[in-house]
Amino acid sequence: YLQSMPKSETIKLREKHIGAACQLFFRSSPLKIVRGVAQFMYDEQGERYLDCINNVAHVGHCHPHVVEAGRNQMSLISTNNRYLHDELVILAGRLVKTMPEPLSVCFLVNSGSEANDLALRLAKVHTNKKDVITLDHAYHGHLTSMIDVSPYKLNLPGGPEKPDWVHVAPVPDVYRGKYTCPHDSCSEEELGQLYADEVKSLCDTATRQHGGVCAFIAESLQSCGGQIIPPKGYFRKVYEHVRQAGGVCIADEVQVGFGRVGTHMWAFETQGVVPDIVTMGKPMGNGHPVAAVITTPDIAKSFADTGVEYFNTYGGNPVSCAIANAVLDVIQDEHLMERANRVGTHLLDRCKDLKLRHRLVGDVRGKGLFVGVELVTDRDARTPATAEAKHIVNRMREQKILISRDGPDSNVLKFKPPMVFTIKDADRLVDTLDMVLGELDSQLPITSIKLEVSVTPLTDVNTSNDMVISNLKQTVKSL
Ligand code: PMP
Repeated sequence: YLQSMPKSETIKLREKHIGAACQLFFRSSPLKIVRGVAQFMYDEQGERYLDCINNVAHVGHCHPHVVEAGRNQMSLISTNNRYLHDELVILAGRLVKTMPEPLSVCFLVNSGSEANDLALRLAKVHTNKKDVITLDHAYHGHLTSMIDVSPYKLNLPGGPEKPDWVHVAPVPDVYRGKYTCPHDSCSEEELGQLYADEVKSLCDTATRQHGGVCAFIAESLQSCGGQIIPPKGYFRKVYEHVRQAGGVCIADEVQVGFGRVGTHMWAFETQGVVPDIVTMGKPMGNGHPVAAVITTPDIAKSFADTGVEYFNTYGGNPVSCAIANAVLDVIQDEHLMERANRVGTHLLDRCKDLKLRHRLVGDVRGKGLFVGVELVTDRDARTPATAEAKHIVNRMREQKILISRDGPDSNVLKFKPPMVFTIKDADRLVDTLDMVLGELDSQLPITSIKLEVSVTPLTDVNTSNDMVISNLKQTVKSL
């Protein structure tokens, strides 16, 4: 297999030369991955892992059509977008075709962070305001400008502080968020209204403090916050409030875009809204760095009217564009959206079934191949099962299945596999998870138990109520 040195040497060199802050999966025993095919990755020993995490390898690791497109263009020319090139305009046209009116102007960049940074820049120029509303636990990128609007990274010990122009709204998490519905006694619409009112109140604050809102930025299904599916009507109301306060709405589709949700190309479409700016990245190049911002002619004109030209050395280079065009070909030719819908529904149904059998599973939610399983040690109190989630991710790795966990308490198991994932892969994932959860069931302390007892009138005069109760207690003890 493809390695230049033994794994121990790779670890030693990484420790010596790569910043210790750089994230590494399974730090105490990291994986050395040397190649990938479709939904599988291989380590240096040739061991095969089922990849349930990598939403970047969207159409499958090293898809031959994408590799070929990159190789071909690389051998012809790789320059910048100060020259005309067909791949660039073809890509922009194809992306815009997937968008609702009036989203029709495209900027090509190199990463999700760059796309969101440019989106904020466009919003600031267009609105002439600076206050930004973001959701709690959101992550929008690693640039300084993005950390400012990423509560996932803000206010951590030793981390940056939230600037005063950033306003954080509670994430619309109906399971463990600020407003929940413990006994299903309220409707999704009511919860959507409560969460949207929170954004309205932040719009009022921003208007009072600084004369209005510049932008609201959010993923339409929050991934870093723990695979959150917002309640119905939430985004529609939020967009109204933000626009009334003079702001624009940015949909971050970096993780959830390109058909992952199965029913639509973009996650914002599932929420019945049309953003003013859409950002996309990760799956767009299937592993090659390419990203984009799509906006309205009005916003693009405000940016052009500043007279400051925009140039990005690699953004829109022909190689990246050829690769992104090839990714779009595969999504279409292999009907991957339809597959995400079919396989994702099967995966979700099977995960819901796990909830019936394992006390640790508190909530199961998702859309297409974007699924989260939230683990709790106590279903009534919804206490996050953080240690158990960590254990499960490690046990799954031992079974050669790669999953991850997320959410503010790192207790949500996340599935966002390449879109070539099959029903068989979904079954293997759930069967293995079922086994691992089973191992944990027996170790879990019982914090509460609900007994339903039907009492039959006593006919045997020798059996007192006290005896019945004592027998019941005995039974509970032995449970
Ligand atoms: N937005 C979201 C929702 C993301 O998940 C990420 C990356 N995890 C980014 C933006 C930043 O993208 P990149 O790492 O390509 O800069």
